[in-house]
Amino acid sequence: MPQPPRVYKTPAIVLRQRKLGDADKIVTLYTANFGKLDAVAKGVRRVTSRLAGHVEPLSHGSFMIAHGRNLDIVTQVQTIETFQPLRDGLERLCRALYVAELVDRATEERAENFALYRLLLNTLRRLSQREDLDLIVRFFEMALLVELGYQPELAKCVVCRSPLKQERNAWAPGVGGVVCPTCRPAEVTLRPLSANALNVLRLLQKGDFQEVARLDLAAELGEELERHLRDAIHFALDRDVRSAAFLDAVRGRLRPRQQVAARGAGPG
Ligand SMILES: [Zn+2]
Repeated sequence: MPQPPRVYKTPAIVLRQRKLGDADKIVTLYTANFGKLDAVAKGVRRVTSRLAGHVEPLSHGSFMIAHGRNLDIVTQVQTIETFQPLRDGLERLCRALYVAELVDRATEERAENFALYRLLLNTLRRLSQREDLDLIVRFFEMALLVELGYQPELAKCVVCRSPLKQERNAWAPGVGGVVCPTCRPAEVTLRPLSANALNVLRLLQKGDFQEVARLDLAAELGEELERHLRDAIHFALDRDVRSAAFLDAVRGRLRPRQQVAARGAGPG
């Protein structure tokens, strides 16, 4: 087997950092070429450090990294974008940190995913340049679900497979999408899903930000979408535990003929 190169170079976004010893930090990077990885930034807690300014969370740079015995080591960084507006306003900053945290929590180390890297980068750019901050985060959340393989089914009821109508359905991310009023189980509390919210979710799922950016959502609809996507993310990141009990409750109400369809719709 050929030895990997001792030093490698990749564009990356800093997701977070934590202290190591007296002078160093471990930075968690989301890289363009290798997915997420941890590397040591030596001496960055000293005031004289030349690296320190380049490894702040949310900054985007070109990183030179050397293979180390335990952890790899950042040897050089050229900052590409500092995203200064994200640091100047709490509204922008808290959303950007939420986005970075989701990417961190949703990914395994060293699983390359260039589409996710682009999504993160585009989201940080939008959050630093635009004013429709919530819409940007909703777009990101839906795109993340799609990237992770948890794209919700928004065309058909996940239980009976009938096409969804423009009516009040129920949001059921634990079983992968939407439950129609006929199939809605009485013993499980599901959030109602308004027809408007379903339409916006479908638009988000098309993945065209320019189209989404034309929306001007009323506050109430915006809050509804936020709850639904939060729920979906929650299930996607913690799925084994939470979806099982829910799925059982839904299945318990099904007639035998429908159970076949529900099995196909449930978590793989
Ligand atoms: Zn149904």
